[in-house]
Amino acid sequence: MNIRFYRVKLMTMEDGTDIIHDGELWVEGKKITYAGSQRDIQGHFPPKWDREIDGKGNLLLPGFKNAHTHSAMTFLRSYADDLPLLDWLNKQVFPMEAKLQGDDIYLLCKLALMEYLTSGITANFDMYFQPRQIARSSADCGFRTVLAGALNDFVSSIEEEEENYVELNHFHPLIRYHLGFHGEYTTGKERLRGIARLAEKYKAPVFSHNSESISEVEQCIQRNGTTPTVYLDSLGIFQYGGGGYHCIHMSQEDLEIFKKRGLWAVTNPGSNVKLASGIAPVQKMMDMGIHLAIGTDGPASNNCLDMFREMFLTTGLGKLREQNAAAVEADHVLWMATVGGAHAMGLWDCDTLTAGKCADLIMIDLHQPNMQPENNLGKNLVYSGSKQNVKMTMVNGNILYENGTFYIGEEPEWIYRKANEIINKCRN
Ligand SMILES: [Zn+2]
Repeated sequence: MNIRFYRVKLMTMEDGTDIIHDGELWVEGKKITYAGSQRDIQGHFPPKWDREIDGKGNLLLPGFKNAHTHSAMTFLRSYADDLPLLDWLNKQVFPMEAKLQGDDIYLLCKLALMEYLTSGITANFDMYFQPRQIARSSADCGFRTVLAGALNDFVSSIEEEEENYVELNHFHPLIRYHLGFHGEYTTGKERLRGIARLAEKYKAPVFSHNSESISEVEQCIQRNGTTPTVYLDSLGIFQYGGGGYHCIHMSQEDLEIFKKRGLWAVTNPGSNVKLASGIAPVQKMMDMGIHLAIGTDGPASNNCLDMFREMFLTTGLGKLREQNAAAVEADHVLWMATVGGAHAMGLWDCDTLTAGKCADLIMIDLHQPNMQPENNLGKNLVYSGSKQNVKMTMVNGNILYENGTFYIGEEPEWIYRKANEIINKCRN
């Protein structure tokens, strides 16, 4: 499809949150072919349009990138809450996950994808077992997913991780796969050495949960004499980059390793608040030049998959931690949620609204009271924006969500019914 957007404001994210007020954007097939001022359009030759969309002064910007999640955990939303982290994990989450079978994960991921679309998310960085089901779910819906290996001592093996890496990187154009493991505390030394060998073999980055709770860090020090980041680095895990999810309880040495290796710290403020895990040192990481992105974490620990809420919490918690209202400013948070996330996931062609890049973009309805007045649209998005402002979500040139309707090849009510059937089956 060739789609023309006219009478739009553009926040391309090429130059921070600057706005082109008289914007026009062209999508030809999967790519953006023009993004700029209507005045500069001379010399650009339009194709035959399949659709021309009058933006009515609304805002287009790159889609949000949910840089850490476990999509299939939708079935545990509001099932296990208000519990300490380890009780939540060991007594509620793990036993229920063990009951998933057949196509359950495929279906549960679709529920999450719908929620991503309503929140303007155009790609997710997903860690869960049964990665083929996740990949199939996204590909069938037309959604973009980057997978991270979920290797640990109970699920999968190094051989399977390598198989996943090779196969899923050739599975579908919308799917990519990064090496990964669940966390230091669930993955023994032999398997971690195996991951380091794969990183070396494929010159590939590696991702995992890292320093989410104080007890995780203390237990790692007891076991290995040092923090998770220092320990993992000593095993050669980060020779080709990668990063960590949460990254809350970080020592100075940990942060220096992140800086030296160019690692991505993916902050998950909603989950960190709900599980009382702590507040990540986001401003300090920014000051050190550490790469940052934002993720929702899974729907069992958050419980919603909403990048507007995550953006507000990223800046709000950053200010609280520093006791400084100037900390973690909104423009940088918006960069983390769009460009930062894309780069963390290796989606270098999905980061900005630029000719030649993938058409992964969203339209924000400015004709709503929470987006007015238009003093600063970047700050409106971070401080007062919400899912209700997402008018349209486009992935790879296809509109998957528009004005409250989903175009993912499946009826929402059918997905809701199946998700309820799965949780009821697992309960019994
Ligand atoms: Zn997680």
